[in-house]
Amino acid sequence: MENPPAFAQVLIAWQQNHGRRDLPWQEWSQQRRDPYRIWLAEIMLQQTRVATVIPYYERFLARFPDLAALAAAPVDDVMVLWSGLGYYARARNLHHCARRIVEEHGGAFPLDVDVIAQLPGIGPSTAAAIAAFAFGTRSAILDGNVKRVLCRHFGVAGFPGSHPVEKRLWALARSLLPHQDMDIYTQALMDLGATVCVRKRPACDCCPLRRECVARREERVHELPAPRPKQPLPRRTTSVLLLLHGDRILLEQRPPAGIWGGLLALPEIEATTAPLAAQVAENYDCTVESVEPLAPLRHAFTHFQLEMRPLLCRVVPAGSQVREDRFRWLRLHEADKAALPAAVRKLLRQLARVTV
Ligand code: SF4
Repeated sequence: MENPPAFAQVLIAWQQNHGRRDLPWQEWSQQRRDPYRIWLAEIMLQQTRVATVIPYYERFLARFPDLAALAAAPVDDVMVLWSGLGYYARARNLHHCARRIVEEHGGAFPLDVDVIAQLPGIGPSTAAAIAAFAFGTRSAILDGNVKRVLCRHFGVAGFPGSHPVEKRLWALARSLLPHQDMDIYTQALMDLGATVCVRKRPACDCCPLRRECVARREERVHELPAPRPKQPLPRRTTSVLLLLHGDRILLEQRPPAGIWGGLLALPEIEATTAPLAAQVAENYDCTVESVEPLAPLRHAFTHFQLEMRPLLCRVVPAGSQVREDRFRWLRLHEADKAALPAAVRKLLRQLARVTV
């Protein structure tokens, strides 16, 4: 294995000339670094591209300029600003985490990477990135992009999500840490994985690590990292109700845990022997005037694929309408601005087109 500082030195030099240095959350002066902003960016960037994150990050900071403002806000306000960014557990954890920092750390972001890693929604890699950027802490990151760079550069075989390979990669990542410029090194690893050593067609000819790269030398770039052993994604099917009264639609707030937790979604209907009209009358205090099935919509989650089968029901609510707080009648144009999952927003836009 090559000398670890050399690996880091090459990357640090490359980052300063070719890396990303003008992202809204990057503050290269140590005096100005705000762990709140760095944490927010790191959470938004999990599973999400930089270009998608930037407008969300800016809107979020305009509404919640500091950790105290976020902790004091109702979680629903946080969900509205996160709406469309996906992986909504991140938003709930962010809010929960802000409150924990206020309650347990007096509102100041903890300095110790192990303490940061224990906070809601922050694993060891994100904790290391926050600590490196905010405090210059010498701690290794190992997200998906970094795993790919290390697997290729050092010729590590096996699926990087498996326990033994991941353990080996953590040890490797720690052995490569420089003794200074941790922020630049950490950013360099991220930038290399995101812009050069990308999943498909990496730009090896402009890679600063090309001379020592095992995958390149052995022509295994497209084999590494090894893919996840094949397992088909399970499929789930659900019938969802588009209960429409004039231009108002009935939405239901999801419980905090589970998919789309805390967001407004469409009521689901279970396959039972009871007639649909009877179920709607029973559960939503509405009389059904007509029912029309719409085209199904598929949505892929990390662990399963969901097929939503929408049933457009034109209804007349009874006087008391639905009794529980979690239900809301919203006009279609208002619903478009509410905290909805992307799949539900898509269905509502389809609905707006068929009902005009
Ligand atoms: S030479 Fe190619 S495969 Fe190797 S680290 Fe660089 S971009 Fe990745």
